[in-house]
Amino acid sequence: MTFNESNQPYKFARHEFKKDRTVITVKGHSIGDGHLTVIAGPCSIESEEQIHSSAKIVAECGAQILRGGAFKPRTSPYSFQGLGEQGLIMMKKAADEFGLLSISEVMDTADIDLIAYYVDILQIGSRNMQNFSLLKKLGRVKKPIFLKRGMSATYKEFLLAAEYILNAGNEEVILCERGIRTFESYTKNTMDIAAIPILRELSHLPIFADPSHGTGIRNLVLPMALAAVAAGTDGLMIEMHPNPEQALSDADQAIEPQDFAKLMAQLNKVAA
Ligand code: PEP
Ligand code: MN
Repeated sequence: MTFNESNQPYKFARHEFKKDRTVITVKGHSIGDGHLTVIAGPCSIESEEQIHSSAKIVAECGAQILRGGAFKPRTSPYSFQGLGEQGLIMMKKAADEFGLLSISEVMDTADIDLIAYYVDILQIGSRNMQNFSLLKKLGRVKKPIFLKRGMSATYKEFLLAAEYILNAGNEEVILCERGIRTFESYTKNTMDIAAIPILRELSHLPIFADPSHGTGIRNLVLPMALAAVAAGTDGLMIEMHPNPEQALSDADQAIEPQDFAKLMAQLNKVAA
């Protein structure tokens, strides 16, 4: 396809394509309609007990979506790689019991159908934001896609990645700012709060913020979550673990259940 109307790099993702902002409704829950949606849970699904207690806390604190990775993109091949389908089965059971929606990452085109069978929303991780064959296939999936910003992607590259999915026929794309690589090494990534109002201006798609991967430091999750809400985010993704010290991935950024409860209470105040 060729597209160059008014010199815009993207067609379907841009603000002018739609009169109203995109609202994605999943099992009765609306994402991007002005209410704050919270996705929370562990980085990885580790056991039946771990994901069950996570789901209980997520639901009791008033969040709507349970997260948990089953196919993990780990920097080292020797690190925990996830429980695969067994993990998805555990998460579905926990999400259903507590009336939560669920989300999990897809790394490989071969796993799309399997993951889509168990969860409500498919996550594309930072490392795969420009995996174009994966993006094209996601355009034919009948589930929303949660697209995380590549760690060195510009806004234009980010929106062009979304464009791949939209152009292939799936209109339900959620953007997520999750921090970018900069010269600063104190934090794991540099959380780009400006991405929130900028992407809202450039695009009609819902925009989320992930202060957990955005900083990599547990104590920074609350202030950066509040900053994202003040900046107009449609939702948050928060890593929370029933026992952060024992987490098999991203232990340094996982927050304790009681801190998640405090975060939810404070969010409601800022959002109001
Ligand atoms: C995750 O959500 O656990 C994850 C790996 O995120 P990202 O792709 O943003 O690093
Ligand atoms: Mn993680």
